Amino acid sequence: MDCIFCKIARGEAPAWKVYEDEDFMVILDKYPASYGHLLVIPKAHYASVVDAPMEVVEKSFRVAAEFAKLWARLGAPGVNIMTNAGREAGQIIFHYHVHVIPRWGNNLLWHGREEIREEVAKEIVERLKKALGR
Ligand SMILES: [Zn+2]
Repeated sequence: MDCIFCKIARGEAPAWKVYEDEDFMVILDKYPASYGHLLVIPKAHYASVVDAPMEVVEKSFRVAAEFAKLWARLGAPGVNIMTNAGREAGQIIFHYHVHVIPRWGNNLLWHGREEIREEVAKEIVERLKKALGR
């Protein structure tokens, strides 16, 4: 299957990975809406929240909330947790994922226009891994 998130889950495409367990991974959004924009992605393929089994939905929001709390602890004054289901809702990649978007008071964009810079991505991954204690 030619799904970019499935490829990342199988290790066949690169991503800035922050966290991974048997069922989920957390990566940096390639076109971040803000500094620290994360995606929580189940490794199994479901098109959107509407198609995913409820236990997958529950775990994805649990992981998302853990990272929202982590960004709050790291000083983010605001954070959004959201998911888009369907093109009409703004979904772009049709493999279910939950956005965690820390807000720093400078914008309320939902999508960034520029690809994340390598040095910024490295810094975020290091910061979050350190904060997670691994
Ligand atoms: Zn997929």
